[in-house]
Amino acid sequence: MRVFDRLDELYAIGGGTRLAYSAEEDRAHELAAEWMREAGLAVDRDEVGNLFGRRGEARVWTGSHLDTVPNGGKFDGALGVVAAIEAAERLRDAPLGIVAFRAEENGPMGSRRLTALPDAFLELHIEQGPTLERLGEPLGIVKAIAGQARGSATFEGRAAHAGTTPMGERSDALVAAAEFVLRVRDAAKDGAVATVGVLELEPGAMNVVPARATVSVDARAPTAGQLDALVETIGFELAWRQDPVPMSGPPLDALRAALPGAPELVSGAGHDAMVLAAAGVPTAMLFVRSLNGGISHSPDELTAGEDVELAVDALTRALERLVTTVES
Ligand SMILES: [Zn+2]
Repeated sequence: MRVFDRLDELYAIGGGTRLAYSAEEDRAHELAAEWMREAGLAVDRDEVGNLFGRRGEARVWTGSHLDTVPNGGKFDGALGVVAAIEAAERLRDAPLGIVAFRAEENGPMGSRRLTALPDAFLELHIEQGPTLERLGEPLGIVKAIAGQARGSATFEGRAAHAGTTPMGERSDALVAAAEFVLRVRDAAKDGAVATVGVLELEPGAMNVVPARATVSVDARAPTAGQLDALVETIGFELAWRQDPVPMSGPPLDALRAALPGAPELVSGAGHDAMVLAAAGVPTAMLFVRSLNGGISHSPDELTAGEDVELAVDALTRALERLVTTVES
């Protein structure tokens, strides 16, 4: 299948490293532009470098991104673009817009700076988690993208000599922070997740009891109520919050019609689809199973060939229906 060759061609550029706005990302966009032209699409780019292949009025868009994290996998983003071009080939007469967004891994930057929006958006992406593999299901429908809350917590202690201050007389900021990290872990339940990913210590010397510890918190939950409760239970200073973004309207209906009985899940990762949905575009996502325990942002990222074929078929069926709905 042509899709696999194209994924290999993209992966060969930079060996899995195509950072935002790098020469490697540029090269991937040039390659995708060639494939779009072969599929009979008219190619154009916007001011920030997002790539479009359009046929007709193109009120329905599908696509994803071509940039990667350093040393990323073969499927993250790339599959959504390559499969979209394949679907456009199969739906030779359908008015469609195929999009490769810029710099998804840095923001996303490209999709946030769109100057024109479609009437509907559908994104195919690998799951990047283990849910579908555990369910034994090749494909899943995303019903919402998890809400996120980010911020930090600071703990004050007293700097003191590590050799001469008795244990019972210390005020150690890091010990307090360590208890907090365990509380963050225990607070996340029922599909919610919470992570401490950054730790800063002052003075940060091997022979000084820490006087101050600041830790980051990234908390995510499937519903706004759960997110509120999670933030409350952990107790930290909120810097940024986004409510869960529901998938909706004709794109979601089209996926459900194309895949009756498919499992529905909440995406813990953001994606370009989150940006379009938050901007008011009726949006849905199709997930395809990630193997190897769902690992992603790694060269070990893996999705089976037969699952990719099922995903391209389902995307094509859903787009065919969606184009008809939106046109009428
Ligand atoms: Zn991605």
